[in-house]
Amino acid sequence: MTALTEWVLECKVCGARRTLDVGYDLGEYKQLYIYCRECRATRPHRILGPRTTLSSASSSAR
Ligand SMILES: [Zn+2]
Repeated sequence: MTALTEWVLECKVCGARRTLDVGYDLGEYKQLYIYCRECRATRPHRILGPRTTLSSASSSAR
């Protein structure tokens, strides 16, 4: 069973933070355009880092 990773994203415009549950690695992205509820528009978000709910398995280091 695959564990989803919660990614902590911060809106570059208003600074609001939100988490996004995805099954893929966002670490390669510098920013991500998603909808911000504060701005009520699609904004660039900075990826602060993963927030794994299960702290056991980390992805293999390169
Ligand atoms: Zn915003």
